[in-house]
Amino acid sequence: MRRKMAAGNWKMNGTAEALGEVDTLLAAHPAPSCDVLICPPATLLHRLSDRLQGSAVRAGGQDCHAAETGAHTGDVSAAMLKDAGATHVILGHSERRSDHGEADDTVRAKAEAAIGADLVAIVCVGETEAQRDAGETLGVISAQLKGSIPDGATGETLVVAYEPVWAIGTGRTPTLDQIAEVHDAIRAELSERFGAETADAVRLLYGGSVKPANAEEIFGVSNVDGALVGGASLKADDFGGIIAALDAS
Ligand code: PEP
Repeated sequence: MRRKMAAGNWKMNGTAEALGEVDTLLAAHPAPSCDVLICPPATLLHRLSDRLQGSAVRAGGQDCHAAETGAHTGDVSAAMLKDAGATHVILGHSERRSDHGEADDTVRAKAEAAIGADLVAIVCVGETEAQRDAGETLGVISAQLKGSIPDGATGETLVVAYEPVWAIGTGRTPTLDQIAEVHDAIRAELSERFGAETADAVRLLYGGSVKPANAEEIFGVSNVDGALVGGASLKADDFGGIIAALDAS
């Protein structure tokens, strides 16, 4: 059985006072039966992981560099995230792919570095609206999976997040059938490459405008093992509602 997962991506939001939301969340959900992860900006990671000591919630990074150390001004390595208390790192988010021109081979190198530093790599894939309209969704996802996931990935080291670019931060979501089609295709693609046993162990998250009001129906979709949540992860009540829906699924 795959353990369900709710992962919050705070993006470039939050200074120290945002940690108060975490206290509220921990008080309301002291023992979730799913894995709960919060990925704050790098500046908050250490303070967040300190705050989470003794709780079931984990902290993660939003990106890492592929190199261990070196002349990469402004970047953070996987080992640095680990040192700051991270257990996971989001990689290949569509905002990294578009804002920083990250291609699949870069995402793959980062995922290798993350796994090498004992972090779980949450690799994001997803089509643009134009690609969906052109009927290219499954081909795009397949190519991203092939290019972005390193050889040797396992259910312990890899989580895949399907995030349609057009659904991120827009309030729009695919139909449940569309989500099922992509998640089933991702599972099949992983099975072809890594074998059924490994593919069955990899958690597949849906991401894109998940909120308490739509979480229950999304978590009922085949091969959806949880959610990667942006905007709704910033408020304890909203993220808590999503955790509750996942726990009930
Ligand atoms: C995200 O950025 O990973 C995301 C899913 O954002 P939102 O939930 O705000 O659509």
